[in-house]
Amino acid sequence: MTDPRLMIPGPVEAEDDVLAALGSQTMPHYGAAFMQLFNETTTRLKRLFETEGDALMVPGPGTGALESAISSLVPRGQSLVALDNGFFGARMIQVVEACGIRPWVITEPMGKPVMPETLRARLSEWLPQAEAEGAPIRAVAMVHHETSTGVLNPIEGLAAVAREFDLAVIVDAVASGGGVRIPVDEWGLDICVTVPNKCIGAPPAMGLMAVSERAWQMAAANDTPHGWFLNLNTWRWYMDNWGDWHPYPTTMPTNNIAALNVALADILAEGAEAHYARFREAAATVREGLAPLGFRLVPDEAYAAPMVSALYVPEGVRPAALQKYLLTEHDMMISGGLGALKGQIVRIGHMGRANAPEAVEALVSAVQAFVGEASPA
Ligand SMILES: *Cc1c(COP(=O)(O)O)cnc(C)c1O
Repeated sequence: MTDPRLMIPGPVEAEDDVLAALGSQTMPHYGAAFMQLFNETTTRLKRLFETEGDALMVPGPGTGALESAISSLVPRGQSLVALDNGFFGARMIQVVEACGIRPWVITEPMGKPVMPETLRARLSEWLPQAEAEGAPIRAVAMVHHETSTGVLNPIEGLAAVAREFDLAVIVDAVASGGGVRIPVDEWGLDICVTVPNKCIGAPPAMGLMAVSERAWQMAAANDTPHGWFLNLNTWRWYMDNWGDWHPYPTTMPTNNIAALNVALADILAEGAEAHYARFREAAATVREGLAPLGFRLVPDEAYAAPMVSALYVPEGVRPAALQKYLLTEHDMMISGGLGALKGQIVRIGHMGRANAPEAVEALVSAVQAFVGEASPA
């Protein structure tokens, strides 16, 4: 079997120039040549995040960078408000608990966004309560694009509410960074995490973190033990003391940074807005093409992310059967539902090569053929 076209919610297929950079000879993760590559990549990342703050590349998965943010900003034994409207919101709460931090959770049903007014109401109620219990709330942690349902939470408004209460804002933008505009400074995000392997279109290897001055200050003030590698104070120390040749604590995935650098350069050369438009166009083609067959978006249209189409399948169509048909007959891989939505929905990713117009049209035709066979007119 040939490698299937990945039309899943990540990881994604990278373009040839990105793969060529990945395949270059390995270099040491210090010294003049690497520092130039590292600085160039960091600068591009900051442009994508629209921030004057710092940008870190932390080896590991996106969740590693989220764990770093949570455990660094909130002292063990204190509290954080977490928003949960899907699989990745729930995952973040597991991270919070595993760090010995108390989560105060706002839950919404799958596919519904968490609204700023809900956050404001809960914070007014919970802040004094947590304070009285000796575990003050320090931050609000939120998922931007909840990939399990394709919902885009309104983080600009949510972050504004968190700041009304003087709380830090931690954002899981793993599946939205590089897919929609996220002006980190303008929106007041203290830590925003994304990865190379979703909307940016490079292979996985790192969590990419925007870190505000306030986040550094909160991390510096956190004197509870919370590990070494994911501790932002460790990263700060190397930036301050080894800045000219090795401003990070460990070996870096140099090939992956070379690949990320090319992917970022391509996005910035094309124009970030044009890059974002690719997702919207692919999403529109898929949604318009499949709606007449009875596929319905999981989220309300107004909150549907352009990077993934999460769709309820029509009567008589089994997601697993459709997935198998696409894979075996058309070499295309799509995803099913996670958790409670398993067996009810399919998820089609529009990131990486999956948003090329030919790929999108081929997918729509293949699904039409499948549904035509499943329920002959
Ligand atoms: C993919 C994804 C993650 C997980 O990323 P890892 O790199 O596997 O840790 C987290 N959050 C969201 C919203 C995602 O889409």
